[in-house]
Amino acid sequence: MTGSSTADEGMAAAARLTTSALAAAGADRSEIVGAALGLPAPIERTTHRVGSPSILPGWVGVDAGALATDALDLPVTVSVDNDANLGALAERRWGAGMNTSDLVYLKLSEGVGAGLIIDGRPYAGITGTAGEIGHTTVDEFGDVCRCGNRGCLETLVSARRVAALLAETAGEELTIAEIVDRARLGHRAYRRVLEDVGRQVGRSLADVCSVFNPELIILGGELAQASAILIPAIQQMVNRCGVPSAADAARIVPAKLGARTHVLGAIALALADVRT
Ligand SMILES: [Zn+2]
Repeated sequence: MTGSSTADEGMAAAARLTTSALAAAGADRSEIVGAALGLPAPIERTTHRVGSPSILPGWVGVDAGALATDALDLPVTVSVDNDANLGALAERRWGAGMNTSDLVYLKLSEGVGAGLIIDGRPYAGITGTAGEIGHTTVDEFGDVCRCGNRGCLETLVSARRVAALLAETAGEELTIAEIVDRARLGHRAYRRVLEDVGRQVGRSLADVCSVFNPELIILGGELAQASAILIPAIQQMVNRCGVPSAADAARIVPAKLGARTHVLGAIALALADVRT
């Protein structure tokens, strides 16, 4: 789901995709044993409602689980979670975080957010908002953010911001893959912008390390394509600003599951719900 559609539009698209996926797999609806949906917004744990009034405006107050269960016409209840939380679940189960009890999965895409696993269990907070690192304030008087605040980390490091910063240099708006390619070839501005993203993300992650003391930070999302440039810059700032015992303990690695991470996380969530 993207942030620009209304809940009904989004679910209509999901229903069409579900029908075509079932046809492609040669499966019948009656064979489905679990289903889950990921959304790029906080989800309140008890009500399954989208918790933020501004991050996903088309879904405000919507019981996403009930809507999806209705719209997809499946014989099971659809579970819902935030996409960064799903990334954490997937990477812990099948990716970079296997055998790790305390990890942070950072989604760096158009939206920026983190999924937390603490002592082996996902941690969402009382209203599902835990891990919203993208909407922590970095510059109180900075750009207005889509959440309604100013100077959030996301306004400085999102994929859209990176592309926009380099559009004039490039003469057009490039994809993140194209930007990473040019940075790898040594083009100075592209490398500089990505290193600066790493430094800004690292400054915020230093605080996350000091507060949660994770063993592992997994970098996912569209900008993870730039991990080779981002991770040294992130590490430098975590070491510089974090409490030393926490900074030393935190390994920073790229996600292993790539573009499939959040979908695999939805499968992990559905499987967990089938078993409970
Ligand atoms: Zn914000």
